[in-house]
Amino acid sequence: MLKKIDHIGIAVYSIEKARNFYEDVLGLKCERIEEVHSQKVRTAFFTVGETHIELLEPTDPSSPVARFLEQKGEGIHHIGYLSDDIEGQLEQAEKKGCTLINPTPVEGAGEKRIAFLHPKSTHGVLTEICEKK
Ligand code: ZN
Repeated sequence: MLKKIDHIGIAVYSIEKARNFYEDVLGLKCERIEEVHSQKVRTAFFTVGETHIELLEPTDPSSPVARFLEQKGEGIHHIGYLSDDIEGQLEQAEKKGCTLINPTPVEGAGEKRIAFLHPKSTHGVLTEICEKK
């Protein structure tokens, strides 16, 4: 079952440059910066209420986020939903005809297991299901 929107992922060229907006203009605090090797990104987390903003900066040209930036530029990259049963959620998505980018969960930031659903089967929104370990 989905519990809440855990975070919104935003692709940026540079966390160092982009964080100024979140800190100086919006007044949020950067909680942590963490590299996620499975996605070839550095991430920076800001908290707003129960939801997080996750800035994503590619660490390698082959990163999916690097390809996103090339095609679309900076902007909203994905929505991350918190689940208490990621395997069940993926099974249901597949049964209903969704294309899974990650048929089995991979390591995500913040001690979470994550899996993405392809935007072609989610009306254009890259959708992440995540679960706390
Ligand atoms: Zn995410």
